[in-house]
Amino acid sequence: MKVSKRPKVKRSPWLLHYDGSSCNGCDIEVLASLTPVYDAERFGVENTGDPMQADIFLVTGGINSQNAGVVKQLYDQMPRPKVVVAVGVCACTGGVFKDCYNIQGGVNTVIPVDIYVPGCAARPEAIIDGIVQAVKLFEKRVKQKVEWDAIQSEETEYDKDISPLR
Ligand code: SF4
Repeated sequence: MKVSKRPKVKRSPWLLHYDGSSCNGCDIEVLASLTPVYDAERFGVENTGDPMQADIFLVTGGINSQNAGVVKQLYDQMPRPKVVVAVGVCACTGGVFKDCYNIQGGVNTVIPVDIYVPGCAARPEAIIDGIVQAVKLFEKRVKQKVEWDAIQSEETEYDKDISPLR
């Protein structure tokens, strides 16, 4: 697999990892990717356990009735902009468990997913590629947010100017 070109990192996006109903296969590969053997941190990401500090949300495993609320809550606690990566076919579609009575499907059944990393289990190279793409997308969204905030503040100034006429 061709790994995406290393992005230019202007700040270190923080990465939150949540293991849903996975068999732990993908979970172990995510941990291998983040630790020094594969060392995803060389691409500028920093692992965190705090959703309120996180920029990239990495989810393994399918969604069931027990973890759906947790995944949604973690996502909602993350500040904007944010990027979601589904790791492994279970997180992408429900995978081999998708017809089980308690599985409702992939991560996209509860939150919007930006990047899908295939594989059963997903290989560290593929996970790192997903992280690199997530960093690029995150940087793009930060830039868009800065521009949007600038437009909004200009509009607020404009509102102030015309407010006496209202
Ligand atoms: S994709 Fe495969 S290895 Fe990963 S959680 Fe599902 S069954 Fe396990």
